[in-house]
Amino acid sequence: MRKFDVVIIGAGIIGLTAAYFLTRLSRSKMALVERSPLPSGSTAHSAGFVTHQMWNPFNQVLAKRSVEVYREIERASQGRFLFQPVGAMITASRVSDAVRQEGVAESLRRLFVKVQMLGPDEVRSIMPGIKTKDIRVATFCPDDGCINPLEFLAVTSGIVRDSGRIEFVYDDALAVEKSDFGYSVRLAHRLIGCRKLVLAMGAWTNSFLSQFGLDLHTRVRRAQVVVTGMPPTWKGVPCYYDRSADFYLAPAGGASLFLGADGSLDETLEGPASFETSLDPSYRKIVLSRFKKRFGVNLEAKGGWAGVYTDSPDGLPLVGELSGYSGLFVGTGDIGLGLVMGPAIGECLACLVSGRRSRINHQPFDPDRFGTKGAKLGLLGRP
Ligand SMILES: Cc1cc2nc3c(=O)[nH]c(=O)nc-3n(C[C@H](O)[C@H](O)[C@H](O)COP(=O)(O)OP(=O)(O)OC[C@H]3O[C@@H](n4cnc5c(N)ncnc54)[C@H](O)[C@@H]3O)c2cc1C
Repeated sequence: MRKFDVVIIGAGIIGLTAAYFLTRLSRSKMALVERSPLPSGSTAHSAGFVTHQMWNPFNQVLAKRSVEVYREIERASQGRFLFQPVGAMITASRVSDAVRQEGVAESLRRLFVKVQMLGPDEVRSIMPGIKTKDIRVATFCPDDGCINPLEFLAVTSGIVRDSGRIEFVYDDALAVEKSDFGYSVRLAHRLIGCRKLVLAMGAWTNSFLSQFGLDLHTRVRRAQVVVTGMPPTWKGVPCYYDRSADFYLAPAGGASLFLGADGSLDETLEGPASFETSLDPSYRKIVLSRFKKRFGVNLEAKGGWAGVYTDSPDGLPLVGELSGYSGLFVGTGDIGLGLVMGPAIGECLACLVSGRRSRINHQPFDPDRFGTKGAKLGLLGRP
């Protein structure tokens, strides 16, 4: 059996950024296990919307750090990865949403994140053609933006690979067993061992653990994206979220837009084992009609897809070492905003694994806060 100091399972945004920071923080012998050589997890299916405008201040801290990490990787990528600071505007029509947006802006100011409250004229100057009659409040963060997640995965895995510090192992993790040196991981084609194990398997993390009695109390949700062309008169639009009607748009590069509904149309699944990956016609219809209502423009869908993400009971991710399982770390519970928070979660995991002080207070993200019940782990994973 090959033995490593650290094994990370999952090369989505969380696992890869954990690997990226570990190449700097640790001289350990490390492996990154990913079952698919082509990007296939949630990160590869996301819309690329990155905003600081989260309602929870702890998540705002993660968002702020993630944008710094994107900037750092952009500098290292020599033009192959871009964080596009197109800004993001959020509008609120209901009183309760307006109050919430004001609270979001206030706590962002405390973090020194640039945020503006906009009146209807300013809203219209930023988003051409937008109907503002019902809008009570709009917030705009000029430092928000979007990324191409496939570029991010390609560039970051290139940097990690080029470091020569982490071995990439393309294999399916089936089970984990506690052993005298730490953990032995049964992959489909081999057995490997490690002292520390990081589970960054996205929506698959909890089902991997739960088969042997551990439960992080996260839920798997199915989300969809509709791809359309850009209305002909639009140029250089920011990302946009209509909080009251619940739909968002993100420029998709070229002349395309990604549209979606941020949660209200998502479905809770039993697990991520199998789910419908194509776009539902009913979802497409609802999202396009919400767009039409706000912008008065009929858009045609050019395509779309569905993917999964992980929700947590309190809307905060789960990041850290599981109590009672020394050396076993998880990074999950992205609440459908893993591009917003993932790079900071990855860095936090890298610090915890390498015994460094994390620049982010990880206590609010304690993975045991819901009472991780479970068998005293003998074997984890698929039997
Ligand atoms: C339709 C859609 C749109 C979204 N849009 C946005 C957006 O605009 N902005 C935003 O911030 N977030 C968005 N999200 C959420 C975002 O995609 C996720 O939060 C994020 O990608 C989660 O990253 P992750 O690293 O935790 O998981 P993943 O990217 O899923 O990575 C987990 C990896 O683990 C691997 N893996 C799993 N099980 C095993 C195993 N047994 N053995 C080996 N490897 C394994 C998988 O193959 C995968 O590569 C969207 C999600 C969806 C579905």
